[in-house]
Amino acid sequence: MLETRNLSLRYGRHLALNDVSIRIAEGETVVILGANGAGKSSLLKAISGLTSAEKGSDVRLDGQSILGTRPHLIPEAGIALVPEGRGVFGDLSVEENLALGANPKRARAGEADRNDLIYDLFPRLAERKKQLVRTMSGGEQQMVAIGRALMSNPRFLMLDEPSLGLAPIVVTELFGALRRVKDTGVGLLLVEQNVSISVSVSDRGYLMEAGRIVGENSAEALKTDPAVQQAFLGGTAA
Ligand code: ATP
Repeated sequence: MLETRNLSLRYGRHLALNDVSIRIAEGETVVILGANGAGKSSLLKAISGLTSAEKGSDVRLDGQSILGTRPHLIPEAGIALVPEGRGVFGDLSVEENLALGANPKRARAGEADRNDLIYDLFPRLAERKKQLVRTMSGGEQQMVAIGRALMSNPRFLMLDEPSLGLAPIVVTELFGALRRVKDTGVGLLLVEQNVSISVSVSDRGYLMEAGRIVGENSAEALKTDPAVQQAFLGGTAA
């Protein structure tokens, strides 16, 4: 179980996270929905140790606090982040990016099998192992980012708006792959503005507004929740 308890985060005087408590069980897929600036990226960064939290906050993995763990040690605990903007190394090839993902100690055993799994999930990467990542399309780069995170052998994989800027057909392909990742037992924590596709892979979800969790429900119920539609500026959420 990965959870945050009363997680608060400030940027100067701006309270970006206000007492956020969420949980993701092993193998569960959870989506955080919310409009621009709701605090979704900040939540993933705080769990990843990339930002420091306010007093009284906690992040726990299997009941043990991991708050304050340095960011490079978070993957060792079995938590991987695919950040917004992907964070891939453009001047390295696909296979070099994937190899870098296998750096944590927990990733050493089974590395070759995991590599095969990623090429099976994303056949386009298998065809382009030697290609420099900066010459690839946005969708392909997102596949590299997800593949690299999976190479760390995570128990929990966090993804920050994986659909951002991608064509609908590529988004469908990516989420198809995420469904298969979910079937391997990895817990997924997904931050998305694309309500329709993200709830289709999720078990549960939370709605964030101005740094607070304002709703929690099954993914199916969130899809038709008026508060979700409201959060997305009155657009149709489904
Ligand atoms: P988006 O979908 O637009 O990325 P988000 O829900 O992920 O939005 P965050 O990026 O977490 O939201 O930002 C939450 C709030 O914190 C916003 O008001 C944002 O302007 C502010 N913020 C984020 N990062 C910083 C920073 N490094 N310094 C100051 N303020 C920040």
